[in-house]
Amino acid sequence: MFNSDIILILTSTLIIIALSSMLLTKMQKIKQLQNEADELKRSLDGMDEQAKIIVRTDMELNRIQEELDKKISGLYALQGLSYAISMTLVEEEIFRRLSLEYLEKLGFEKTLVFLWDNERKNFTLKTAIGYTEEEINLINSHINANKNHCLNLIGEAKTLSSLSAPGNFITKNTLYNIFKANYFIFSPILPQQNNRGFLFVGTQNAETVITEGDEELIKILTTQLGQALENARLFEKTWNAQQELEKKVTERTRELTAALEEVRKLSKLKTNFVSSVSHELRTPLTSIKGYAAILLTGKLGAIPIEAKERLDKINRHSDELVHMVNDLLDISRIESGKVTMNLAPCDLKEIINKVDDLLSGQLKERKINLSVNIEPNASSVLIDRVQIERVFINLIGNAMKFTPAGGRISISNRKAGEMIQVDVSDTGCGIPLEAQEAIFEEFFRVDNPINQEVKGTGLGLALVKRIIETHQGKIWVKSKAGSGSTFSFTLQQG
Ligand code: ADP
Repeated sequence: MFNSDIILILTSTLIIIALSSMLLTKMQKIKQLQNEADELKRSLDGMDEQAKIIVRTDMELNRIQEELDKKISGLYALQGLSYAISMTLVEEEIFRRLSLEYLEKLGFEKTLVFLWDNERKNFTLKTAIGYTEEEINLINSHINANKNHCLNLIGEAKTLSSLSAPGNFITKNTLYNIFKANYFIFSPILPQQNNRGFLFVGTQNAETVITEGDEELIKILTTQLGQALENARLFEKTWNAQQELEKKVTERTRELTAALEEVRKLSKLKTNFVSSVSHELRTPLTSIKGYAAILLTGKLGAIPIEAKERLDKINRHSDELVHMVNDLLDISRIESGKVTMNLAPCDLKEIINKVDDLLSGQLKERKINLSVNIEPNASSVLIDRVQIERVFINLIGNAMKFTPAGGRISISNRKAGEMIQVDVSDTGCGIPLEAQEAIFEEFFRVDNPINQEVKGTGLGLALVKRIIETHQGKIWVKSKAGSGSTFSFTLQQG
C-alpha cells in the first residue's frame, strides 16, 4: 500500500510536472503568437500608412503633371502667338493676331491692350477680347480716370496679378465689377518712345490658379508685343520716309525734265542762232577778205606802205574771223546732227604721222619735241578720219601754244575695256582744277598771262568734245597748274 501510494503520488507528481510543463510551453506559444500578432498588426499599420503616402504622392504627381501640361500648352500658345505677332509690321495686324484662340490656351478668356497716346494724353484701347461694348466703355473710363497710376506702373515696369498684391486701381471690387475677372495679370509694355502701354489678361474661371509661371509667360508675351509694335513703328517711319523721298524724287525729276526740255529748246535756239549768224557773217567776211586781197595785189593802183600794213592786218584778222566762224558753224552743225560721221577702221599711227607732218614746222620753230608711242595692239580705231585729224590738230596745237620752248609733247595709246584710249600730254603751263571742266565749253579761256599773249577763240576744245562724243567716246583732262596737262579721249576699236 505504501508503495502503491508512493507510486501514485509519484505518478501524479510526474503528471502534474508534465502537465505544468505542457501548460508552460502552451503559454509560451500563446505569448509568441500574441507577439507575432502584434508584429503583424504593426506592419499592417505601417503598410496602411505607406499606402496613404503612395496615394498622396500619386495625387501630387497628377497635380504636377497637370500643371506641367498647362505650362507646355501655355508655352506652345506663347510660341505661336509670338511668331504670329512678330511676322507682321502693321500695327493693326499685330492686334488682330492677338487672338482668343491663343489666349485661351494661356488660360485667359479676357484680354485688353491699352497704349498711351502722347498727343491726346490718354490711354487708347487697341484690342479687347471677351468684353461687350458697354463693358469696354466702362473699362476705358476707369483706365483713363486712373491714367497716372497706370503710367506709374508702366514706368516702374511693374507686373501685377491676383497672385501678387493688386494695385490701387484694381481692387477686388473693380476686378469683379469692371474687369469682369476673378484672376488677372497686368503687364506693362515697356516704355519705348510711343509704345508705352499695358496688356491685361483675366479669367472668370474659379478653378484657375495664377502661378509665377503664368506671370512669367505673360511678361514674355508683353515684351514680344512691345518689340513687334516698335518694329511696326520703325517700319512705318521708314516707309513714310521712303514714300516722302520717292515723292520728292518724282517732283524733282519732273522739274528737272521740264528744265532739261527748256535747256534743249534754248540750246536748239542758240545753235540755230549761231548757225544763221555765222552764215550771215561768212558772206561779208569773204567780200572783205576778197577786197583786201585784190587791193594787196596792187592791181587797183599802188598802195602806200602804211595802207599795206593795215590791209595785211585786215587780211589776217579776216582769216581769224573766218576760222572762228567755221568752228562755230561746225559746232552747231555737229550739235544739230547735221554732220554725218563717215566711220571706218583707221590706224592711229597713220593719222598722227600726218598731223605730225603738218605741224612739224611749228614744232621745230617752237623747239618742242613730239614723241609718239603707239601700241600696235591698240591702234585700230573706228573713226571719221577727217574729224579725228581735227581733234589731234587741236590738241597738239593747244599743247604747242601752252608749252614753253624746250618742252615736250607725247602721244600714247592703250586699251581701256572695249575702247581705245589716247593720251596727249605736254609739259606746259597746266590748267587750274577749277577751270578743267569749263575749258570744254564754248568761248572759255583760262584767265592767265599766257592766254593774254596767245591767240585763241575758246572754241577748239568745244569742237573736239563734240567730235569725240559723236564717236561715242569721252574726253577729259588731268592737269595741275604749272605741271603740264594730259588730255585723254576714248574711241571705239576698229
Ligand atoms: P583756245 O585754245 O582757242 O583758247 P580751246 O578751246 O582750244 O581754245 O582751249 C580753251 C582753253 O583751255 C585755252 O584758252 C587754255 O586756257 C586752255 N588749254 C587748252 N589746252 C591747254 C593746254 N594743253 N595747256 C594749258 N591750257 C590749255
